[in-house]
Amino acid sequence: MIELSVGDITQMRVDAIVNAANSSLLGGGGVDGAIHRAAGPELLNECRALKGCATGQAKLTQAYRLPARYVIHTVGPVYRDGHAGEAELLASCYQNSLQLAADHHLKSVAFPSISCGVYGYPAEQACAIAVDSVTRFLASHPNMTVDFVCFSEAMRSHYQHVLHTI
Ligand code: ADP
Repeated sequence: MIELSVGDITQMRVDAIVNAANSSLLGGGGVDGAIHRAAGPELLNECRALKGCATGQAKLTQAYRLPARYVIHTVGPVYRDGHAGEAELLASCYQNSLQLAADHHLKSVAFPSISCGVYGYPAEQACAIAVDSVTRFLASHPNMTVDFVCFSEAMRSHYQHVLHTI
């Protein structure tokens, strides 16, 4: 099942929230900064031991002071011109995050709009990739729930548009 909401992903009481991290996994701005602030310094400690993460891949940590049980850190592509493999890498973020969740028997996962902030991915295109990747994954994992947590009404309407066309 796919759900759509507007809000702060750090408040989500789900099995796992996904962090749009950078490849160092040592924190940053945007949703990454918000997650680290809300989780507390123990999160950075655990992340240090992971030795980074490649673009399109995902790694799991505990969630410490967050209401969620786990954090799945994935690294979205920086958007260049659309011809640098960005779409495939963004799809990999969703697929690999969900596979990691399934491997840990997690049922509810909340995603932010990966790459849509500082990394500059055009929102309409990113939403289409997010919905397509998640829909494909859920077809073989019908017991899982994915919540797209939008940080603005404008972002919500992009997802809404794509969800109406599938
Ligand atoms: P990236 O570097 O992957 O682009 P950003 O954190 O800059 O990551 O932005 C990704 C998306 O997360 C943007 O749409 C941004 O508005 C959104 N965002 C920022 N803070 C939060 C938050 N606390 N909860 C949910 N989404 C957030």
